[in-house]
Amino acid sequence: QAKSSGRNRLSWYNRRLSEELSERVSLERALHRALGHDELFVVYQPQIDVLSGQIIGAEALLRWQHPERGLVSPALFIPIAEKTGLINAIGDWVLDQVCRQIAEWDQQGLNVPLVAVNVSAQQLGSEQFADRVLAHLIHHQLSSERLELELTESVLMCLDDANACMRRFADAGIRLAIDDFGTGFSSLAYLRALPVQRLKIDRSFLMEVPGNRNDESIVRAVIGLAHNLNIDVIAEGVETELQQQFLHQNHCYAVQGYLHGKPIKANDFAAYLRRTSPSENRLLR
Ligand code: C2E
Ligand code: MG
Ligand code: MG
Ligand code: MG
Repeated sequence: QAKSSGRNRLSWYNRRLSEELSERVSLERALHRALGHDELFVVYQPQIDVLSGQIIGAEALLRWQHPERGLVSPALFIPIAEKTGLINAIGDWVLDQVCRQIAEWDQQGLNVPLVAVNVSAQQLGSEQFADRVLAHLIHHQLSSERLELELTESVLMCLDDANACMRRFADAGIRLAIDDFGTGFSSLAYLRALPVQRLKIDRSFLMEVPGNRNDESIVRAVIGLAHNLNIDVIAEGVETELQQQFLHQNHCYAVQGYLHGKPIKANDFAAYLRRTSPSENRLLR
């Protein structure tokens, strides 16, 4: 009895394992195809200055519309793209899309001062990456401060020489931000050495703010750290007025989250821009 139930459980695990494996392999194949078949697209989430109410930028987030599965989460397909090395081609495509979009908004008189793009370790570690980023900026005739590269602490830990990689961007005037700040395993010492312009407070620290004393202290400490290092700070995943009030009271004035808007397609973002600052945009037109 016990033996047979053990065997059943084992075969259940085996089945689950092989299902997961074939699932991964099929997603991998599909992802190869996706890039050439218009299945990938970029959505944009506004970043707001709460003092003026103005849009100070956007974060570009990748989406995959799979023909049968529907929308696949980047949390699922980015790790696959990273393991297969496909992230280099995909990331390059994202950068081109984003630069093209900024230039188009400029032409339409819509002011998006800066767009932040997420970057994986393989991209940052690749020899050609810096040149590719600059090539996209030049091709779309954009100045370098229009782009911000978002790196997580784990990305920095993966690199042999994060400082050298990042220095190239800093020298070129491209902004660098630490994404999901505080969730990685890095020491604070790297902040002294690395040319970083902004910290992004991770959503997980804000979920129970206000209310959770420990989380409140952490958020305050990160804001203070950014101020003392003389760099920018933005809070991500802001969903409520109360969270925003807490941030405002503690001198963090840049926010991104569902409170102001979910990530949306470029066209919808343009409509949103016209709606939120119509007079300014009319003057420009
Ligand atoms: P991330 O860079 O930390 O992006 C923030 C995530 O939080 C996004 O999820 C965004 O949609 C979500 N978010 C924003 N505001 C709120 C909020 O108020 N509440 C909640 N619950 N969520 C909010 P998304 O778009 O699913 O992306 C997940 C992750 O996938 C990103 O985390 C980033 O690490 C990665 N990713 C997305 N696009 C790219 C890309 O082009 N390249 C690379 N390498 N990674 C990407
Ligand atoms: Mg990000
Ligand atoms: Mg983040
Ligand atoms: Mg995150």
